[in-house]
Amino acid sequence: MYSYITAIAVLVLGGTLIFWLMRNRNQSNRHKPIVDPQKTIIPRDKHPVSRRHINDNALKVINRLNSQGYEAYLVGGCIRDLYLNLHPKDFDVATNASPEEVRRLFRNSRLIGRRFKLVHVLFGREMIEVATFRANHEQHHGQEKSRHSESGRILRDNVYGTMEDDAIRRDFTVNALYYDGRDFSVVDFCNGVDDIRTGTLRLIGDPVTRYHEDPVRMLRAIRFAAKLNFNMAPETEQPIRELGHLLRDIPAARLFDEVLKLLQSGQGVRTFELLREYQLFGPLFPATEHCLKEQDRHAGNLIVESLKSTDKRVRQNRPVTPAFLFAALLWAPMRRMARELMDQGMPPVPAFQQASMTVIANQCSHTAIPRRFSMMVRDIWDLQIRLERRQPKLIESLLEHPKFRAAYDFLVLREQSGENLSAAGQWWTEIQELDEHGRYAMIKSLSSHGGQKKQGHKRRRRRRKPRSDDTSSNNNQSGES
Ligand code: ATP
Ligand code: MG
Repeated sequence: MYSYITAIAVLVLGGTLIFWLMRNRNQSNRHKPIVDPQKTIIPRDKHPVSRRHINDNALKVINRLNSQGYEAYLVGGCIRDLYLNLHPKDFDVATNASPEEVRRLFRNSRLIGRRFKLVHVLFGREMIEVATFRANHEQHHGQEKSRHSESGRILRDNVYGTMEDDAIRRDFTVNALYYDGRDFSVVDFCNGVDDIRTGTLRLIGDPVTRYHEDPVRMLRAIRFAAKLNFNMAPETEQPIRELGHLLRDIPAARLFDEVLKLLQSGQGVRTFELLREYQLFGPLFPATEHCLKEQDRHAGNLIVESLKSTDKRVRQNRPVTPAFLFAALLWAPMRRMARELMDQGMPPVPAFQQASMTVIANQCSHTAIPRRFSMMVRDIWDLQIRLERRQPKLIESLLEHPKFRAAYDFLVLREQSGENLSAAGQWWTEIQELDEHGRYAMIKSLSSHGGQKKQGHKRRRRRRKPRSDDTSSNNNQSGES
């Protein structure tokens, strides 16, 4: 009997110990990138990165750091893009000098960031970002330097380390290539060059852990897959569909910036398709996703048309505004809510105004739209009704309106996406091309039809009153305000 009890006790204790050990092992694996960095140095004659294509100020920064006895390299997207014969967007430097040391070395610099301390070295309007080599957080538990959330997200990241440490903490292998200004070689720790050759986007380390550390890496995966036309490695793409919900923890201001990078970098259409395919669009734009899921044909068309136009403008180096993009992304949920309010008996103009305010406010909790842009979104939307109605007395002042151009472009996009606006877009296109006399004639011919329009407008309103459930004319806002 005694030995029987001892055996059970040993089994229970043993089981608990094994469970505890397993649990701790999983926990500690969470923050440990599973990668064994192998340093490969690619000499100048074996790679295509030419100094001629590197920004002079970026070279000055690394040369200065080198001359003061520090290690310093160009790293990240700039080397990846030069490898691929693309124009880098910016040049980043990684060094073993601490941010304070870098700050002291460059008079024209400033220390920035708390979550991730950096130095910006300024050359007129140009800026070179200098980061100190970061290390894995495992060896350092001080809250001052590193912090994680419950879900494993990195909240603070100021643990410094070696160049190898720095390489394996980067997101993708192709983003972990270093250019050495002393001998013009490229240093590769994670087989990034092989992945560039095969067009593969591969997250460094264990993807699930790395996505938990920073869920924005999922958005970056989509962005680079679209921009570089790369395929994601199977282990990199596989967890994304299940982890989209992690984006809900990311500050809305950071997600706004990411959305602009995703959709205003010249590959907006492809990026939008990929975001939807990998179920990352919903966490960013839940109300719009809801409309898209309900097969709102115009919603999808309008977004794609606006992204096509944005992509074209980016290619032509013309300016693009986030307001236009957000006006298109949120148009469907705004219109849907306005319809619901009208069905409840609210007149069209206040219904549209209330829907605009509510939809923008809700969206701001996901992607914080700065006020100057949200105001412009509302202007673009408000002007739609007036542009559709074409009231003769208002034509001149509408043409002079500071947001006329954006609102007109938006109207045309709505028509292109299949909304029936009684050829209002064409009408505004024509009037802009005419001289004063031509305009006068167009407005006059509008006036001669104005009586009819008004009558029609009144008739519709009278008919609508008893039928509060009638939504048949909602697609056309022109006669409703
Ligand atoms: P681009 O500038 O063309 O958008 P990039 O790769 O240079 O692409 P940046 O945001 O400028 O992107 O970041 C510079 C480098 O910093 C990246 O190449 C990568 O090595 C590293 N990095 C940026 N964001 C992360 C992240 N969330 N996790 C890990 N490493 C990152
Ligand atoms: Mg960059």
